Order: sequence, then C-alpha cells, then structure tokens
Amino acid sequence: MRLKEKIALITGASKGIGREIAIKFAHNGCDIIFFYKNNRLLAEEVSEEIEALGRKVIPIKVDVSNYEEVENAKEEVKKHFDHIDILVNNAGILRDNLFTKMEQGQWDEVIDVNLTGVFNCTSVFIEELMKSKEANIINMTSIAGIHGNVGQTNYSAAKSGIIGFTKALAKEVAGNNIRVNAIAPGFIETGIWESLPPKIYKRALNRIALKRIGNPIHVANTALFLASSLSSYITGQVIEVDGGIGISVI
Ligand code: NAD
Repeated sequence: MRLKEKIALITGASKGIGREIAIKFAHNGCDIIFFYKNNRLLAEEVSEEIEALGRKVIPIKVDVSNYEEVENAKEEVKKHFDHIDILVNNAGILRDNLFTKMEQGQWDEVIDVNLTGVFNCTSVFIEELMKSKEANIINMTSIAGIHGNVGQTNYSAAKSGIIGFTKALAKEVAGNNIRVNAIAPGFIETGIWESLPPKIYKRALNRIALKRIGNPIHVANTALFLASSLSSYITGQVIEVDGGIGISVI
C-alpha cells in the first residue's frame, strides 16, 4: 500500500488513463475525488469499483476549463476532506487538424481544456495541497508536447505549455513540500484514439521501439511511482511512457 491514508484528486477519471490511475491509487490505500465531464454512468461504474476496494470516493461533475465550476467543486471537496495530498491533472481532449485548416474553435477548445484546465485545478486546489505534509502534483502531458506532432499544433502547444508550467511550479512550491512532475505518454490504448484515422495509428506503431501500443496501466504505474515516496527526490521532471518513441530518431 504505497498511498495509505492519502487523498487524491484526479481529473477526467471516468475512463481511459484517469480511470486506471484512480483504481490503481485506490488499490494502494488512497481515497479518491474525481472529476468527470458529463458521463454519469461511467462515473458511477468507477465509483463502485473504488468503493468495492474499501476506499472513500467522491465523483464530481466538473468541466476543468470552467474556473467557476472548479471553485464550486472545492466547496464540495471541503465537506469531505480537510486537505488533499495528490492532484493528477489528467483531463484532456484532441481536436486534430492540419494547421492550415485549423479553426479558431479547435485551437481554443484544446488550449482551454488541456492547458487552462491544468491552471484552473492547480490554482483552486493549491491551498488544499499546501495543508498536506507531503504533496504531489502530476500533470499529464504527451510526447506531442516534447516532439510535436502533425495535425496537432493546438495539442502540442498545450502539452508543451504543461511542461513549462510543471518545471516553473516545481521551483515555486518545493519549499512547501509539494513535488510537481509530468508524465508524457506515447500511444496508449484509450478512447482518445477513436478520433484518429487508421493510417496514423499504423504509422505510430511503426515508430515505437517496443513495437506495441501502451496500456493505461503503464501510465498508472508511473503515476503511482510519482505520487509515492518512492520518488521523494524527484521534482520538475517529465517521464516519457512511450515504448521508446522518443529514442526512435535513427
Ligand atoms: P480519454 O478520452 O479516454 O479520457 C479523457 C478524460 O478526460 C475523459 O474522462 C473525459 O471525460 C475527460 N475530459 C475531457 N474534457 C474534459 C473537461 N473539459 N473537463 C473534465 N474532464 C474532461 O483520454 P486518455 O487517453 O485517457 O487521456 C488522458 C490524458 O492523457 C489526456 O490529457 C491526454 O492528452 C493524455 N495522453 C493520452 C495519450 C494516449 O495515447 N491515450 C497519449 C498522450 C497523452
């Protein structure tokens, strides 16, 4: 039990990577607050799974791009917990298009959810994290934020922004005993893939050194490492969980 008696807030945890992290953390003794955007049925499923592990779970319907909704959620959280120990900024979307065809709305939506959402949740909950003896923020970036990706100027910009945010914040809050790290997944089998054309999927597979798509569990295991004392001397870092895409230049 690596997270015994810890309290984690995870955004976008009704499915995919966020869901896997919530369940992995609960398995490790952690109580869970999670944000979901609108699928109550999926949120209920995740909640039941966490409750079955004997952990407390508080699902809250929140659009992370809306500061006011995040603030309201804090009031709800405070009814149940007097602090939080872990914040996982995981919620994210894709609105891919080649740059010459990219519409302002596609740019805005991705920046608002993927980057401003991280600001909103961190800004609103930083005081709650400061009340913890030992806190951790884990931000979900992407290899697209490190290397860039065709059709993803909006997404790559948001995910690069998260990396800068992670490093700057790590310096600012180290004195408060808060570590801040980021995970950069490569190609992980989740719902986010549903919008990608098969041609891009096949091309991606070819570039992975390990020649297999990742599973949400690979990301959840890394999140557990970063959230636990196993990584107590690590802050301001970006860990690539990508099967070796990042090394596949030559
Ligand atoms: P997913 O689509 O399966 O899940 C995303 C989650 O975010 C969902 O629960 C969704 O409801 C939630 N969400 C979306 N917009 C939201 C909003 N405005 N407010 C609150 N919640 C919102 O995607 P995933 O693959 O699990 O992705 C999780 C994170 O990992 C994202 O930040 C994504 O960019 C990142 N990532 C994923 C991959 C991959 O290959 N799957 C690769 C690199 C990075």
